[in-house]
Amino acid sequence: MEPAHSAPLGDSSAEVLLSELERQVQDVVRTSSWWERHGVDCAVLALSLLALPAGFLCLRFHNILAFAAGITILGVCHYTLTVKGSHLASHSALTESKRWSKILMIFFMEVCTAFPAEFAKLNHVNMHHGYTNVVGLGDSSTWKAPFFNRYIYMFLGPLSIPVLTPLVALAHLRKEELRRALRTLAFMSLGLYSQYWMFLNVSGIKSPSSALACMLLSRSLLAHPFLYVNIFQHIGLPMFSPDKKPRRIHMMTLGVLNLPRQPVLDWAFGHSLISCHVEHHLFPRLSDHMCLKVKPLVSKFLHDKKLPYNEGSYLARFQLFLSRYEELMVHAPPITELVGLQ
Ligand SMILES: [Zn+2]
Repeated sequence: MEPAHSAPLGDSSAEVLLSELERQVQDVVRTSSWWERHGVDCAVLALSLLALPAGFLCLRFHNILAFAAGITILGVCHYTLTVKGSHLASHSALTESKRWSKILMIFFMEVCTAFPAEFAKLNHVNMHHGYTNVVGLGDSSTWKAPFFNRYIYMFLGPLSIPVLTPLVALAHLRKEELRRALRTLAFMSLGLYSQYWMFLNVSGIKSPSSALACMLLSRSLLAHPFLYVNIFQHIGLPMFSPDKKPRRIHMMTLGVLNLPRQPVLDWAFGHSLISCHVEHHLFPRLSDHMCLKVKPLVSKFLHDKKLPYNEGSYLARFQLFLSRYEELMVHAPPITELVGLQ
């Protein structure tokens, strides 16, 4: 076990602090327009859908630059729909309507990502958000592959994500209720086949194997940052035991880290997964734009109250994971005990 951290606050003061922060954030939300609460992010997702035909058409030109432009457009749009779209939809952050939230979640997760919507929501929203960095529950261990060495994992591992995603989905569907499994299978097939069809019929690609290679290429474009962001923001930070998990404000401030803003990743993954991950874990129903809007308030509040506000650069985190790979990604994480905070 790691040495116990100092305990600045007890149970009741933690609750009071969280309520005070929630009140301040709710004041900002209440005075924000629909455009700010949902519109900006819905517009980014709509633009990503509308840009898809341009990406497919670029591939019609037998020119390396047009090919690179086409794959880049398709890759960035794919990640925007599958990461930002699926993530916000799973938190019902795109609309206040329950019915539309479910429709959007099925569209982004099953049609675009080829992954079962309810299973993804259970793992992400209920487990990862409910038990952030609690060992065996929401500890990001699904991202660990201890049988790979550090170089295979960090450099080649991400390329397996587009292939592994539908395979993991199929393995899960065998345990799913028949009606839901058939629905998911139908939407996954629709998404995968329509992309394949577009490469053959809109991009004018002649052979099925070349169309499949283009699918893999566009679906792998941002696979490296996607994997890195998922491990950088939680692994290596304090981990908690299920029977001694801390109060929510401590769990989210100690176990979550923000990365710097980066235009492509801000667009494709969303602020809640990049520079506002702490804000997202504290207020998971806020859209990306709203997370960015409340970020100055949240960071100032946490600094003023002497609570942690973890931030790290991509390079520093990459170097840390490469140099301490065995400790962080292979062995079981040490538990942090927060004396007086449980
Ligand atoms: Zn989330």
